[in-house]
Amino acid sequence: MSTYRTKAIEDVMGRAPKFPTTPSNKISDYFAENAFTLESMREHLTEEAFYNVMDAIEKGDRIDRKVADQIASSLKEWAMARDVTHYTHWFQPLTGSTAEKHDSFITPDGRGGAIERFDGSLLVQQEPDASSFPNGGIRTTFEARGYTLWDPSSPPFIMGKTLCIPTIFIAYTGQSLDNKAPLLKALHVVDEAATAVCQYFDKNVTKVVATLGWEQEYFLVDKSLYYARPDLSQTGRVLVGAPPPKGQQLDDNYFGSIPQRAMAFMQDFECESHLIGIPVTTRHNEVAPNQFEVAPMFEEANLANDHNLILMDLLERVAHRHNFHVLLHEKPFAGLNGSGKHNNWSLGTNTGINLLKPGTNPKTNLRFLTFFVNTLAAINTHADLLRACISGAGNDHRLGANEAPPAIISAFIGTQLNDLLDALEENISAGKMSPDEKTALKLEIGRIPEVLLDNTDRNRTSPFAFTGNKFEFRAVGSTANCAVPMMVLNTIMADQLKVFKVAVDARIDSGEGKDEAILKELQILIKGSKRIRFEGNGYGEAWVKEAAERGLSNLMDTPAALAVWGRKEVVDLFESMNVLTAEEIAARTEVDFETYIMHLQIEARVLINMVNTQIIPAVVDCQSDLLANIEGFLSVFGDSEGEKMAFPQHEVVQDLSEALNSIHQDVKALQAAKEEANSAPNSVAQAQLYASKVRPIMDVIRVSADRLEGLCEDGRWPFPKLREILFTR
Ligand code: ADP
Ligand code: MG
Repeated sequence: MSTYRTKAIEDVMGRAPKFPTTPSNKISDYFAENAFTLESMREHLTEEAFYNVMDAIEKGDRIDRKVADQIASSLKEWAMARDVTHYTHWFQPLTGSTAEKHDSFITPDGRGGAIERFDGSLLVQQEPDASSFPNGGIRTTFEARGYTLWDPSSPPFIMGKTLCIPTIFIAYTGQSLDNKAPLLKALHVVDEAATAVCQYFDKNVTKVVATLGWEQEYFLVDKSLYYARPDLSQTGRVLVGAPPPKGQQLDDNYFGSIPQRAMAFMQDFECESHLIGIPVTTRHNEVAPNQFEVAPMFEEANLANDHNLILMDLLERVAHRHNFHVLLHEKPFAGLNGSGKHNNWSLGTNTGINLLKPGTNPKTNLRFLTFFVNTLAAINTHADLLRACISGAGNDHRLGANEAPPAIISAFIGTQLNDLLDALEENISAGKMSPDEKTALKLEIGRIPEVLLDNTDRNRTSPFAFTGNKFEFRAVGSTANCAVPMMVLNTIMADQLKVFKVAVDARIDSGEGKDEAILKELQILIKGSKRIRFEGNGYGEAWVKEAAERGLSNLMDTPAALAVWGRKEVVDLFESMNVLTAEEIAARTEVDFETYIMHLQIEARVLINMVNTQIIPAVVDCQSDLLANIEGFLSVFGDSEGEKMAFPQHEVVQDLSEALNSIHQDVKALQAAKEEANSAPNSVAQAQLYASKVRPIMDVIRVSADRLEGLCEDGRWPFPKLREILFTR
């Protein structure tokens, strides 16, 4: 068995390795050994119980109480064989991360001893005291009850000695208090809507699942350096720090050879991921120094998202064993590449078809075009909503800077597909199609696979790009819970497909042929969504201007983006799709505003503290040394000669004083701006003031601080510098 594996199991589980049972280095031998997968269920459950669970997963059927008892009992047995002592309902509150409260299996046996107990009721539902989770005002404190309910579509898994059961989290009134419940609802509506459209092409399609393949970027920093910086340890990013002379300008990092220590860390967390059944496959160096990426094989979106959340947790846990700290923040270091989490997304059928993969003949290509064009139409109609769903204090720093997509939402599809859409837009006549026209169109559509084969152009500047058989939503930030963008993307797609189906059906009812009806509707969508297609450079200033002319929004910060959730059409959309109610949206938006304010408030406090208690004292010490030195020159060499000789010291102390004066004034201004923002009447006004007044002063302070860093004696500078943090390997 590999040392990584043995070590991972020993360290995390605190015991000698018992599982994996096979002493093998082959990943497939131990993959998902610590997840209660469908395969484990089939092994442990009676046939009847197994099919009940399958129906619950596929059709949303209720799980019978007796069956739940049976599952609970086999789950307990399975887990205890793996030395598990506790279980937890694992859920995704609106904090953005995950929550767990561990309970032991044991219960007193009434004779002074204890027995292990775990029945269906404990598996299916729990009532955590959840009053401390953000709820945006949905639950008043006296009605603080919340329930976690088992999600049978995501396998229970073992973390350490705890069995984690994925659950949704709802208020006793039924409102969602988490990110998973609305995602599941969105996945359900997109299944319904896409299956109905698939019926035009293939009657065997009875289910469509959304697929997600995320790519997680992160930085690794040495643990001791991390703790020596209050900004990193308190806010996840550096608030001051001069850029290192060598950053990423040599382009020598991307796909470079992975440093040994980072590699040891990767092998370790990959092994842990594999044991839990997370199919991570890809690892590489990213653009910035000490920045890396991990990506799995794509999975059904809900499972993929659970896996991403588990992985983020694993990254942090495993990093500690390697004396690293992992930074998941979107922009830990200004001026360097930020961290994103590209969401690769597609739709797949129960018949094994990827609906965004071009087919091999005109018929299958018409299906491809249908889903492809409907996606573009959905993105066009709901561009602002897409921007809103990826907003946050961290991503504000990333979007539009250093190789990250801009805050303007657009879609890149490649020149050749672009040309094809242009051709289709022109060639479909308004009246009834002649047989010749139909043949010409079929030929046109039949050429798609050829087109894609030579279509090698990739555009890394686009927030939403078609990459051959899927769309890649690149604007998502590295800390994001993908459930939010996935919930939005699948809801808008469902809405668009429903509208499309109604329109096509109306044409068919009025006597048009099916293919012709579909093509004509596609043509309308191609025309209507043209403005969202952009093949040029998304980083350029010219695009900002052009986008404005096209009527595309450029929502520059989180408060502006969050306001979109309040629009009537957005609320109507989610209500009509049964994904979120108006009240749930209002509550979530309130939580998002508060989270944004909290992040900026913490950053401002940390910065004020660092300047007042670390930077200013260090600079004053430097000044004292220099002044004593100057005085020494004067007393030894006399005023006139001494002053000449101490001229450099004189200048340095003057420069220090100048920068010190600015930073001192600016910190006072920051304090005042923060107080003004805090006393604004509501969270929207507070957030706006934090964005418009507080943040700019923080940037100004950084300039003075970085100037001081360049003047102050290296040994006196109170925290590790970026060249140390980024190049310690
Ligand atoms: P890149 O060049 O952007 O790194 P890759 O080909 O490595 O692209 O794929 C990135 C991600 O896309 C992987 O996680 C992969 O599993 C995922 N992916 C591939 N096909 C699909 C699909 N049909 N649906 C969702 N994700 C997919
Ligand atoms: Mg990618």
